[in-house]
Amino acid sequence: MIDFADMKKELERLSGIEYHSCPDCGKHLRVQKVKKESRNFGRPFVACGCGGFVWCDLPTCKSCGANYLTATVKKPTANQGRKFRACPRQCKGEFRWVD
Ligand SMILES: [Zn+2]
Ligand SMILES: [Zn+2]
Repeated sequence: MIDFADMKKELERLSGIEYHSCPDCGKHLRVQKVKKESRNFGRPFVACGCGGFVWCDLPTCKSCGANYLTATVKKPTANQGRKFRACPRQCKGEFRWVD
């Protein structure tokens, strides 16, 4: 019996190629590096044909794989001015205060 899922993982490990799932359609994408001379030069990312895009060197949501967004509470409440990070897809439980 051969477990193809395991075999695929092993192949990925041996080839040194990293993969990341598209947060929009779930497609398995190969991590690329920015080749253009810019301030993002050399950064790892995945870009999907569906428009999905993820920076792989930033924290990503464990549920959907999207980059977290960081924002500050603007509403005049007890938490006003506090920074938090959350999944842009609003996955449950993926909300955290950044203090
Ligand atoms: Zn996609
Ligand atoms: Zn998410």
